[in-house]
Amino acid sequence: MDMITISIDHSEQADYIYQQIYQKIKKEILNRNLLPHTQVPSKRELAGKLRVSVNSVNAAYQQLLAEGYLYAIERKGFFVEQLDTFYTEEQTSSFVLPDDLKEPAVDRGEWISFSHMSVNMAHFPLKSWFRCEQKSAARAFHTLGDMAHPQGIYGVRETITRLISLTRGVKCSPEQIVISAGTQMLIHLLTELLPDDALYAMEEPGYRRMYQLLCSAGKEVKTIRLDEKGMSMREINKQNPDVLITTPSHQFPTGVIMPVSRRIQLLNWAAEVADRYIIEDDYDSEFKYDVDSIPALQSLDRFQNVIYMGTFSKSLLPGLRISYMVLPPELLRKYKKRSYDLQTCNTLAQLALQEFIDSGEYQKHIKKMKQMYKEKREKLIHALDEAFGEKITVKGANAGLHFVTEFDTNRPEKEILAHASRLQLEVFGMSRFQLEEGRKKQNTPALIIGFARLKDEDIGEGVKRLQRAVYG
Ligand SMILES: *Cc1c(COP(=O)(O)O)cnc(C)c1O
Repeated sequence: MDMITISIDHSEQADYIYQQIYQKIKKEILNRNLLPHTQVPSKRELAGKLRVSVNSVNAAYQQLLAEGYLYAIERKGFFVEQLDTFYTEEQTSSFVLPDDLKEPAVDRGEWISFSHMSVNMAHFPLKSWFRCEQKSAARAFHTLGDMAHPQGIYGVRETITRLISLTRGVKCSPEQIVISAGTQMLIHLLTELLPDDALYAMEEPGYRRMYQLLCSAGKEVKTIRLDEKGMSMREINKQNPDVLITTPSHQFPTGVIMPVSRRIQLLNWAAEVADRYIIEDDYDSEFKYDVDSIPALQSLDRFQNVIYMGTFSKSLLPGLRISYMVLPPELLRKYKKRSYDLQTCNTLAQLALQEFIDSGEYQKHIKKMKQMYKEKREKLIHALDEAFGEKITVKGANAGLHFVTEFDTNRPEKEILAHASRLQLEVFGMSRFQLEEGRKKQNTPALIIGFARLKDEDIGEGVKRLQRAVYG
């Protein structure tokens, strides 16, 4: 064969010699300068020519052999492998990510956020959390060497069982709990456990992500309009779904707390016909103001028709990604027939959470945050009243980490949001949560005002920007 010309760079910054040889020969093969089945020089020959050690050439050849660029014939030497032309096209080595796929750098430094999905980390008890992490990791170190139970570590499930029994009246045993990295994954799992042709129904307006997830899983999803008590029974009976998804403790996004009368109606609806289920998304039940917490829908259920869902995203931090659900026995039996699930939550984080709850830190944190949110919410509503007077209506502010504001204005919501964005104000409009196209849309513009992320000192400026977005 034509001898390959390789110049070796001996400088200190250069790659290892074997890497230089490897790269050069690989390139020649891909460029078809070395044709399939031609013999490459023996190791000794090439080493002599390049004035490098045989070891270096050997290392390069071994790598080319392992990757399949060369093949060896005993007592004959090394030959170039036959590669399809597609593989040899230059493009493969000079790939650049198209611009539309590049992620813009996010710098939200000057922004003020009314996001309902974020929390302000300044109040997170970081030290106690680290202490819990350390303590639990030392105690349960051996468990890290194994795959966790698909439903999550048993002890962690015991702790969650105690917690939701105490705070939400949920009746279950640790065997029924499935821990997962987020509510989305739980919903996805449920679509596989529930009958393939189950008809789902969600609240309108409602949690768009969940709606989209179900639709993209090929599920038929109806929407149920709300009346003053929550999901309208008339619409439920009209749509006749198999599975209802609801947020009774603080309707997302309108903030309505479902009264007991409607809860009982829902439970009776589920009990009427076999295989009906209610998914209770209890995402921010920890926070109630001026009203007492109503026990979970699941706590009233006598027929195991409610699938209870909880999360630590709102009560602790969204980045933790620990959520869970309580499976009714019949669905648990189905789940246990699956043998391929792996636990998606980080074991260390689960253990830390367990310690955090068992040591009382969690309840302490909730108590502190509840007081803080209560005050922040009052300050914010006061500032909104001052700024907007008669032109604002605040709704659904008795619970949770957000409320709804309606404005007396002719400016369309879309325009308000565009203004807000230009003013570096992060806020979401109600139309985002109107799930079904073609439903009659709300006329007055309405915004979801989340306050968990908002700093006290930003309230004034946030309201000012809002005022400019709506009227400026
Ligand atoms: C935040 C939130 C959840 C929880 O989502 P995770 O995936 O557990 O973080 C569920 N439902 C609603 C309506 C929420 O706002």
